[in-house]
Amino acid sequence: MDRLGNILKENWGYDRFLPLQREAMQCALDKRDSLVVLPTGGGKSLCFQAPALAVEGMAVIVSPLLSLMKDQVDALITNGVAAAKIDSTMNARERVVVHQAIQERSLKLLYVSPERMVQPAFIQYLQKAHVSFLVVDEAHCISHWGHDFRPEYRLLKQLREAFPDISMHAFTATATELVRTDIIQELGLSTPSVLIGSFDRPNLRYRVQKRADLFTQVRELIDAHPGDSGVVYCIRRADVDDLCTKLTAAGYKALPYHAGMEEADRKRNQEAFTNETTDIIVATVAFGMGIDKSNVRYVIHGAMPKSVEHYQQETGRAGRDGLEADCTLLYSYADFQLWKSIIEKNEAGGGDVALDKLQDMARYCDQLTCRHKALVEYFGEPFPARPCGACDVCLGDIDTLADAQQIGRCILSAVLDLEGMAGPTYTTALLTGSREERITAKKHDRLPSFGLLDTHDARSVRDWIEQLVSQGYLSKSGEYNILGLTARGLALNRGDEMPILTDRGRERVRKPAPRRGAPRRNEEDLGPFDPSLFQVLRQVRRAKAAELGVPPFIVFGDRALRDMACCKPLDRAAFLQVRGVSDHKCDAFGSEFIAAITAYCEEAGRP
Ligand code: ADP
Ligand code: ZN
Repeated sequence: MDRLGNILKENWGYDRFLPLQREAMQCALDKRDSLVVLPTGGGKSLCFQAPALAVEGMAVIVSPLLSLMKDQVDALITNGVAAAKIDSTMNARERVVVHQAIQERSLKLLYVSPERMVQPAFIQYLQKAHVSFLVVDEAHCISHWGHDFRPEYRLLKQLREAFPDISMHAFTATATELVRTDIIQELGLSTPSVLIGSFDRPNLRYRVQKRADLFTQVRELIDAHPGDSGVVYCIRRADVDDLCTKLTAAGYKALPYHAGMEEADRKRNQEAFTNETTDIIVATVAFGMGIDKSNVRYVIHGAMPKSVEHYQQETGRAGRDGLEADCTLLYSYADFQLWKSIIEKNEAGGGDVALDKLQDMARYCDQLTCRHKALVEYFGEPFPARPCGACDVCLGDIDTLADAQQIGRCILSAVLDLEGMAGPTYTTALLTGSREERITAKKHDRLPSFGLLDTHDARSVRDWIEQLVSQGYLSKSGEYNILGLTARGLALNRGDEMPILTDRGRERVRKPAPRRGAPRRNEEDLGPFDPSLFQVLRQVRRAKAAELGVPPFIVFGDRALRDMACCKPLDRAAFLQVRGVSDHKCDAFGSEFIAAITAYCEEAGRP
């Protein structure tokens, strides 16, 4: 195995790289500036942490949030990596300890706030400190176009000149072109290697449901995840308090979080969530920044968020460990109205951009495109036209038409009859047998497909055409949205494909749709695990974390615990095989976990 591979295995217990991780790490080794764009959970931290161990000197990481810095440093130390941070919360003595470590050249990674990083005295200090490379984390903070603009980030530009021989590496999860260009320019990166990962989060299962009775629906969703960590988002503070009170009264371990609460209360509730003394946080959008918790197993939206960007970001907090997580959005038309009035009240000039984004969000809720596809395409990334296996549309959770194939073929025949000369509206008119002039004038009422769907209303037919387009059976081209058949459309025409069509207008056909598509993805080769052993191990983890004063996920991620609950390692050698068990963690925690597994197996009387 190569150097980086060894480092990954020894210090993190991982056997392979996530997409683009190796390439990103190589940039640091090659001393080439880089911009790495990976989604939340894409494993950005390892992209600079692993190479920091492979080279001489100390890597310096600029990070905007104290809580994230603390989590990362804690996680590194738990893995036996020499890391430290310098921030405003530290007292003089703590600072001296870090200073000494820097002088002794024993640190491999140093985390610094942007405010500190731009102080001339500190820059001079670092110039003599044998820095290996510089990292700017959450680099979108440099851009006005990003969602968390931070003025101090703009001053980071001087670093490129202050450290001319040291490479700089920027990381972000914000994918827009505008932000990317801004980062490169503002940081003055020189001919950077730009690595952009896929923004699909295959382990998240997206669902959208009409909201009928919020409390009952939320309860059902939570009950599907007993003991798991989850977040429920609401639009208004009052909704948060109301829902949280009801959940607590019904015996759930839930706590509220919103901007109207005292800072201390918010902090306490967030910590209770991180430390797993509470399962559920009911929150407004205020909750999320600085949440590094990797094992959030579900995110419920009690109402529609105001933009797809928000939705993406909020659901992105689920399943950062790569294990499956549920993201369910409960919406009603009232949400649209509520946001609209909020936007119109708050934004001078009517908030056109905000209203467009709101409209896009409503469209996302309504449409029947694969949710994974809709989300990544919204952010400009292509997605293959095949069932994802992890959304309500592809899983067939939505009430679908039993005769979708037949309807689909009728529509395709009209498109073929019109020989690629018409758009959706005209095609709809033809199919519903309209005798409007433009049809009769062209004698299109003599085409075989004329009136094939005349028992349906035009709105439905028009909608089905859009559904066929979004499912990749039809293509639209040019200014007039001329319809054409795709390869997939030809397969449907032969009867080899089954589209998914629903009708929001007419009575729905309730039929249990076939489970289609791939099984849950990203489970990789994790075998079935013993859920009661998993719960036992969670207790051990929680106790250990409390003892060390770190969040449980820093001791071990859920993935490692599941792997243990699957393989049931009874000795050190077997324990080291578990994914996410580094040498250091094996030494530090191995005996306790092995003891718990041994006791469990003996009690259960099985190996
Ligand atoms: P990001 O900062 O991009 O949101 P993180 O760096 O927090 O992502 O990583 C997300 C999760 O994936 C963490 O739990 C991390 O330990 C895990 N991870 C990172 N790299 C790997 C890998 N090569 N194999 C398995 N898990 C990994
Ligand atoms: Zn899908």
